[in-house]
Amino acid sequence: MSRTTVATIHLGALRHNLARVRALASGARVMAVVKADAYGHGLERVARALDSEAEAFAVAAIADGLRLRAAGHRQRIVVLSGPDTPADIAEMQRLKLEALIHHDAQLPWLARADAARGALTVWIKVDTGMHRLGFAPARAREVHALLTAMPAIAPEVGLMTHFASSEEFEGRDTALQIQRFREATDGLEGPRALSNSAAVLGWPDARGDWVRTGGLLYGLSVVEGRSGADFGFRPAMTLTTRLVAINQLARGERVGYNGTYTCPEDMAVGVAAIGYGDGYPRSAVQGTPVLVNGQLAPLVGRVSMDLITLDLRGVPDARVGDRVTLWGAGLPVETVAAAAGTISYDLTCGMTRRVLFVDDEG
Ligand SMILES: *Cc1c(COP(=O)(O)O)cnc(C)c1O
Repeated sequence: MSRTTVATIHLGALRHNLARVRALASGARVMAVVKADAYGHGLERVARALDSEAEAFAVAAIADGLRLRAAGHRQRIVVLSGPDTPADIAEMQRLKLEALIHHDAQLPWLARADAARGALTVWIKVDTGMHRLGFAPARAREVHALLTAMPAIAPEVGLMTHFASSEEFEGRDTALQIQRFREATDGLEGPRALSNSAAVLGWPDARGDWVRTGGLLYGLSVVEGRSGADFGFRPAMTLTTRLVAINQLARGERVGYNGTYTCPEDMAVGVAAIGYGDGYPRSAVQGTPVLVNGQLAPLVGRVSMDLITLDLRGVPDARVGDRVTLWGAGLPVETVAAAAGTISYDLTCGMTRRVLFVDDEG
């Protein structure tokens, strides 16, 4: 028996989720966000699964665009942080990658770009309140005019903004950002793309011509207290391992590094072959849910590099070799993330190289 931790990637779930995004986004085109190795699910595998349905892919780095082109994908690919150096421009033209323009430093690079290398499609990023990337709203018109006049720039210039708090459906921040974006871009030609996953769920006003969804494609939600499943999405990753030992411990015995868990009674403690060396979060607290043969076996003691320890009192039939599920169908990764003080995206992105990835058509 192998001790390997397995991340099973459900290709059918990816396709289901994209169809669900499309239904929610009623009419908008879907830019499938596959940055960070498709949120840890594997860039090439996810792109292959979504190829016939996604009108565009979005990545964070030119290198990911290169991987997608090398794998044969022909659709539009947007690099969400744009060119970082003047040399990036020619590379983006060569690969037909679309550029995000968010800063004055990029403008002279574009002005000098060689039109003979092919027209570069660009999107202007307007900073409506996130204060990360983007031009101030008051500059959107001027930048739009500058770009449309440049010889190497394709005539259709897109307009984007990004929300800081779109998962707060009751908050005012997103409404204000939508309003600022409208005012800044009113009357300008070009497609609009505002919504990330949470905005697709909660802010129909922000739909625009394109939605840029990452999390929901993987069945992940960042809405407090709600999993992707609560919105009709299916988890695209199931993370599993095996029980490698079961110890019968006496009341008062302590478990793991620094003995942070004390057995309240004589009990069975299971040891499962996964740890932070695989990407299971070290910050997961005592009581974080884990399933053994589908039954609840809460985490006890510290997460170590290769192993975790589990309270087996609720699983009296557990045997060495039994399957342990860390997240997936039946145990939302959002629940585990909350117990580890983080978000689901952080966990799926954190799978390490020793995790074995297996494709599942379902
Ligand atoms: C990552 C990212 C997205 C996707 O966000 P999700 O919450 O995963 O849908 C959209 N737009 C930009 C600019 C991003 O960086």
